[in-house]
Amino acid sequence: MLRSIRWKLALSLLLIVVVSVGLSSFLIGMGTQREFKEYVASCDQMYTTSVTKFLSDYYKTTGGWKNVDKLLAQQLTSADERLVLSDGGGIIVADTGGEWVGKNAKDVGLSQFVAVSNLNQAIGRLYPLSCDCSGIASSLGRSCSTTSIVYTGAEQDFLKRTNNYLWMIGLLTAAVALFLGWVLTRQITQPIHALKKGAQQLSSGEMNYRVPVAARDELGELAKSFNSMADSLDKMEQSRRHLTADIAHELRTPLTVIEGTVDGMLDGVFAPDKEHLNWIKEQTGLLTRLIEDLRDISQAEAGQLKLNIMRTNLVELIERKVSHLQIRAQEKEINLKLLTGVRVAEVEVDPVRMEQIVNNLLTNAIRHTPRSGNITVSVDKQPADNKYMPGKPGVLVSVADTGEGIPPEHLERIFDRFYRVESSRAKEEGETGLGLAIVKQMAEAHGGRVWAESTVGAGSTFFVFVPADKTSKVNPA
Ligand code: ADP
Repeated sequence: MLRSIRWKLALSLLLIVVVSVGLSSFLIGMGTQREFKEYVASCDQMYTTSVTKFLSDYYKTTGGWKNVDKLLAQQLTSADERLVLSDGGGIIVADTGGEWVGKNAKDVGLSQFVAVSNLNQAIGRLYPLSCDCSGIASSLGRSCSTTSIVYTGAEQDFLKRTNNYLWMIGLLTAAVALFLGWVLTRQITQPIHALKKGAQQLSSGEMNYRVPVAARDELGELAKSFNSMADSLDKMEQSRRHLTADIAHELRTPLTVIEGTVDGMLDGVFAPDKEHLNWIKEQTGLLTRLIEDLRDISQAEAGQLKLNIMRTNLVELIERKVSHLQIRAQEKEINLKLLTGVRVAEVEVDPVRMEQIVNNLLTNAIRHTPRSGNITVSVDKQPADNKYMPGKPGVLVSVADTGEGIPPEHLERIFDRFYRVESSRAKEEGETGLGLAIVKQMAEAHGGRVWAESTVGAGSTFFVFVPADKTSKVNPA
């Protein structure tokens, strides 16, 4: 039971309610009693003062205490009271209880009194008593001292009732607080239960499960975060499934070709000549490239791609790559040229990875540009307030071709793994479908970015922005 958060909250609440209600009832009770005591004492003081004044006047008028008992009886304010009067020597001259007349006050146990005086001469002693305490030992007049007050029956009743009310109010408040607390804790525990259920569903593979977002408080925020986490997990799971399917598919094509060729040679359909062996070699080369590309991408995605960063002249590197690929461009009579706005673009990069970027963009451009088309590579320096990566100076490399172009609906996705605009044609040429995904991962690993602009029928331009740190040297051409 104590493992449930609702019970824990309810028990904490119970403890708080019991302690606070108990303490406040106790303190209010104490305060009421003290105030009531003082109130009663001041009333008694006024009462005894008026009675002694009356007695003094009586004495002055009659010259003694004769027949004073009747008058004393008239002074009683309640049936609980008893007034005893003695003369100056302590001999009782009147007793509303009709018991002690003629006796010495000390002998009947009376000690506390209020003096009755006339012209500064003590003429008598008044002993106000409570009927409840008529026993000798406790028959003390209460008005002599506020600390030794003995309440009358009515007063005791009043105090008892007040105390009972206080405890009743306390218990009622505690019960209401507990009920409300139990209902309110449900509001906290319900979303927590929903989250727990959501986590269990996700871990059991139910990736579509989402938690209801009921409130706008922190728990609502938590539910929202949980749902967006579930969304990304779902996406990741889907992309993992697609990736596995894509890899299996991509591996199957060259393997089928190899298997078919070898089978053909074994069955005597193909001669084991140079042409067929080259064909097999080409397919194994494709498999190797595919595996290497996949390894690079997964390392880059996991942030584990090791970059061998060194000061590199990007212009020289691109010039080299362009001249390597000139032969392939010329085979298609493509005019491949390099325009550079800078002479030296020395940046801190991994030259091998940079070459991979330029190579992939250029081979794509050559493949997608028709005969006699144009490919223009440019390298330009960018100041810190550039629009591509605001706040970072860098070098912008672009590869523009006059190829078939890429429809806008594909433009966003061409950097995804295995994404092809026309899958059949690309497969024919034996490409891996990972070229642009690698370009993207490599550019991002350098802190840069890559993007493309294209017009169908007119051509495409691919851009790579490489940030250059403060020490990098970029000289105008
Ligand atoms: P692939 O190995 O198939 O070329 P990439 O990742 O390099 O894979 O490219 C993804 C897709 O983007 C290609 O299938 C192609 O349709 C499209 N693409 C890439 N470069 C160009 C380009 N210069 N012009 C037109 N389409 C291109």
